[in-house]
Amino acid sequence: MSLENQTAVVTGAGRGIGRAIALAFAGAGADVVCISRTEANSQSVADEVAALGRKSWAVAVDVSDTAAVEAAVAKILEDTGGINILVNNAGVTRDGLLMRMSEADWDTVLDTNLKGAFTLTKAFARPLRKADNARIINIASVVGITGNAGQVNYAASKAGLIGFTKSVAREFAKSGLTVNAIAPGFIATDMTDELSDKVKDAIKANIPMGELGAVDDIAGAALYLASPAARYVTGQVLTVDGGMVM
Ligand code: NAP
Repeated sequence: MSLENQTAVVTGAGRGIGRAIALAFAGAGADVVCISRTEANSQSVADEVAALGRKSWAVAVDVSDTAAVEAAVAKILEDTGGINILVNNAGVTRDGLLMRMSEADWDTVLDTNLKGAFTLTKAFARPLRKADNARIINIASVVGITGNAGQVNYAASKAGLIGFTKSVAREFAKSGLTVNAIAPGFIATDMTDELSDKVKDAIKANIPMGELGAVDDIAGAALYLASPAARYVTGQVLTVDGGMVM
């Protein structure tokens, strides 16, 4: 699954799943724009991409800040000369039961996970529609399909991202731009490290394959969806979850 001559933008590339996707794409021959909230993390992954012999750009921007994203996208298009793959991966959690959830925690999660994807997709839509092998890949979650007690904000953002994916897929299908989502189950990253061992054991008991996934499990799925092999696949949600949702 070669990505030679492709330029990808990956948000939340600084750590975890986004970093694994950026490196997998670079390994397949793509140049990669690494967007992260912090300068240090975006730069360190961009350096790793460059070490694989690909062009890379480090961009530190908060995806929930519309004006900052629009300015960053204009600069990215100028610096790269155009992109053809966008991965909306940046995401956060602010878990808590509904009765105790603050408006700020609701807004932070929806603004980052859902509005961020909207802003980036809209800002890149015009060049993506004209590009060859154009792809948008949104990183959702199985909890956007099943719901999860204690994550009403996060589950709503991911369910919204799935509806967004299918709607944008319909709008852009004729131009050949495909739009798909990946719904990871529980993947070992900083995000899931926050969970107690007791919670992790309960999660594992619910996974038919009996273990948390690895970031490369998601990167492999993203590589497939980005590659020419997935040319005729659009509007889909690919669950990568050890069999949790079937
Ligand atoms: P992670 O290890 O916490 O990394 C999150 C990345 O997103 C970091 O690079 C972070 O930037 C970036 N980020 C966060 N908020 C941002 C913002 N406002 N603007 C720009 N970048 C921002 O998370 P992960 O586990 O890899 O998760 C990646 C995606 O997969 C998320 O959308 C998450 O919801 C989804 N997901 C994860 C799991 C899982 O089990 N891990 C399961 C299902 C879905 P800095 O590095 O600069 O802080």
